[in-house]
Amino acid sequence: MAIRPVIGITARGSGGGGGRREIGIPRDYVVAVLQAGGLPALLPAPPDPEGAAAIWVRRVDGLLLSGGGDVSPELYGAAAHPKTCEVVPERDRFEIALCRAAWDRGMPVLGICRGIQVLTVALGGSLMQDIPSESGSELDHYIRSKPDALAHSITCVPGSRIAACLGGRGEVEVNSRHHQCVAGPAPKSLQVTAWAPDGIIEAVESGGGRPVLGVQFHPENLVGGHPEFRGLFSWLVEAAAGSSQS
Ligand code: MN
Repeated sequence: MAIRPVIGITARGSGGGGGRREIGIPRDYVVAVLQAGGLPALLPAPPDPEGAAAIWVRRVDGLLLSGGGDVSPELYGAAAHPKTCEVVPERDRFEIALCRAAWDRGMPVLGICRGIQVLTVALGGSLMQDIPSESGSELDHYIRSKPDALAHSITCVPGSRIAACLGGRGEVEVNSRHHQCVAGPAPKSLQVTAWAPDGIIEAVESGGGRPVLGVQFHPENLVGGHPEFRGLFSWLVEAAAGSSQS
């Protein structure tokens, strides 16, 4: 029987109230993981985030950090910008603990949108809190109308993991649904491997064979109409199968 690695997907919503009646994962992440041969598991923010993270990294084979609200600027030593929104402190705490525990174990991690930002902050980097007001870019990175609408190109570093996941292509068109981005990638642990035409960082990854990759776009929304994006999920699932704990 083929190994079916368990991929923990961080969930939105929390037990902390705030009016939300659901804790869940947008369907496209789940479908993309299933399609790649993984078994998705729901990882909601729990009480005792650090303790729970230590348990989860022993139970799952790979980690998918999903999209969501902004990471608390306090966590990278910045004052909140007026446009920073939807901060959920318990989710930040849990996901940062997960990232660090996964990093220590050499566990495969794919961070998407908020996920690349969580990964960056967990490993000591920093974020730009609002692209329109802080970057001077005229490119629209926040297109909500259609999740799979192609918004801008990205240029990937030749030989990088993201380039390999996208079939060796140096330039691809991606969607874009973010107002924040990586500003200072985590020193020593993550390198920038893709940029948008305006210089906004669109991918970071670890060197030294550690299976950690973050992307600022949403490949889970693109796998249906653009099969080349399935390579990102196949990479995660195959890397997780290789380090499977079962
Ligand atoms: Mn973008």
